[in-house]
Amino acid sequence: MTNNTELKKIVENTCEEKELVDTVLVIVEKIVALPKKKKFTIAKLIDYDPQKDIVDPLKQGTIKALVSKVCKKLGIQLTTIDKSFGGLAYNVTHRKDILKKPVRKCTACGYDKFFEIKIVDEEIKTALGVSPKKVKSYVCEKCGHIEFYMEKEM
Ligand SMILES: [Zn+2]
Repeated sequence: MTNNTELKKIVENTCEEKELVDTVLVIVEKIVALPKKKKFTIAKLIDYDPQKDIVDPLKQGTIKALVSKVCKKLGIQLTTIDKSFGGLAYNVTHRKDILKKPVRKCTACGYDKFFEIKIVDEEIKTALGVSPKKVKSYVCEKCGHIEFYMEKEM
């Protein structure tokens, strides 16, 4: 089905459930092909037809989690846009976002682990004069130094 062996290897290394490898691979390939910022549901991506071939809710959740994991390894973040009631993972709308990697070492103390923080609208607007969606921020786990990153497409 695919000749992307590199991608297949990543999927195989991520999926402990070997029977899900092919399903996850198909979905990830479709996501990779999407333009960034594109909104999608897994159901629409794969023309999911519960009449034909039903995937139970638990399995949908597992597949979704694996897809997210693989995407993260590829530098793609699946941002949840809405959680529809009923909670079927295939029907949740996601947006394809590109992960921004923090700098390797903290410029203040040299430590190499960061966590990402979200800043509320008003604060970011006051401080930087730009929309919060266009700024990512990371905090050094050791000293608390904050790094800000602007997204490119502005
Ligand atoms: Zn630091």
